[in-house]
Amino acid sequence: PPDVEQLGRASWTLLHSITATYPVRPTPDLQKETKQFIYTFSKLYPCWTCAQDFQRWLKEDRNAPRVSSRDEFGRWMCEAHNAVNVKLGKERFDCDRWEERWRTGWKD
Ligand code: FAD
Repeated sequence: PPDVEQLGRASWTLLHSITATYPVRPTPDLQKETKQFIYTFSKLYPCWTCAQDFQRWLKEDRNAPRVSSRDEFGRWMCEAHNAVNVKLGKERFDCDRWEERWRTGWKD
């Protein structure tokens, strides 16, 4: 099985990159497919305990995927990532900066 940390970094890169290229105004069909993708992803994620916890987190009403715009989806993904950061005792990421990190690049 893949290394859990390497798998995680690769997966977050993919997931945040998807939010960065998500349409600013997605069609209703795409929003539906995107929600489905998140739920399917949570079932197929190849780290069983990670997948289980992610599915449990998704089940809470307040954590339901928000996909009606790029900014909303990007922030939602950042919150999902922060939930894992907190679980692992890592620092929370400032979600006001998600786009700077994953789309436009740091302004340094
Ligand atoms: P990562 O957490 O992989 O982050 C990569 C980069 O993303 C960071 O360097 C930072 O620049 C940026 N970043 C950090 N936080 C955010 C944020 N909130 N929003 C946007 N960008 C951010 N590992 C386990 O050991 N147990 C688990 O149960 C577990 N569950 C996981 C569930 C999912 C759905 C995923 C995708 C991964 C999971 N992981 C789990 C892996 C874990 O989240 C990390 O990927 C791994 O520990 C490597 O961490 P890292 O410190 O290298 O950075």
